[in-house]
Amino acid sequence: MSIPKNIVLCFMAHPDDAEILCGGVLIRLAELGWQVHIATAANGDCGSETLPRKEIAAIRHEEGMAAAKSIGGTYHSLAQPDLNVVFDQPTIRLAIDLFRAVCPTVVITHPREDYMLDHEQTHLLARKAAFSFPIPNASPMPPPSGATIPHLYYADPIEGRNPYTGEMVMPTVTIDVSGAIEKKAEMLACHASQRDWLRAHHGMDEYIEAMKRHSAERGRLINTPYAESFRQHLGHAFPQTDVLAELLA
Ligand SMILES: [Zn+2]
Repeated sequence: MSIPKNIVLCFMAHPDDAEILCGGVLIRLAELGWQVHIATAANGDCGSETLPRKEIAAIRHEEGMAAAKSIGGTYHSLAQPDLNVVFDQPTIRLAIDLFRAVCPTVVITHPREDYMLDHEQTHLLARKAAFSFPIPNASPMPPPSGATIPHLYYADPIEGRNPYTGEMVMPTVTIDVSGAIEKKAEMLACHASQRDWLRAHHGMDEYIEAMKRHSAERGRLINTPYAESFRQHLGHAFPQTDVLAELLA
């Protein structure tokens, strides 16, 4: 199997996290001809106050597929129950096999510290899989030949704030998504079930406005209407070049 280049995998905890946190960058990469994959560790089965788990999970899977398809991308789910994403051997295996199937050259995931632990556990799974998937013995599923460790980026924590200090986190790169903001809103609107759910749970009716408000806050960092911020993982063995900046800044 030869390795296609220019593949981005956005691996997040829940359906709609990718659209909120980095939909603009995914849209811009798709416009450059990149293959876009959106994956979630969880199935979204706690995202309703009225529907049973199986029913809301099925709805959210459809919404995830529709959002990815709207930019020519593909949706994947590890189908773990909401509030139960864990960094254990069976889930690591699922994550590695997902990475082997997709063979990403760029990965975007949650930061190490975020408002809920499903996000932090997904961060660990993504970081583990990014490092491990090219290693032949990491899983019985054969790795794509010539696969290498991808560029790894962390999107903002929710609202850009460190949950322990309340402070805004400092990004290493901020990308202008002003030209993609309405398309990003359309992607997010594919998650229709969550507008109702957030209204009930958070007492707010501004699913899309909250996304735009955070994108505008990040836009102020680079004097543009809307932007998305990231921190690049620069640990040993990971690519050091800032490919998002090179392509999109
Ligand atoms: Zn989430």
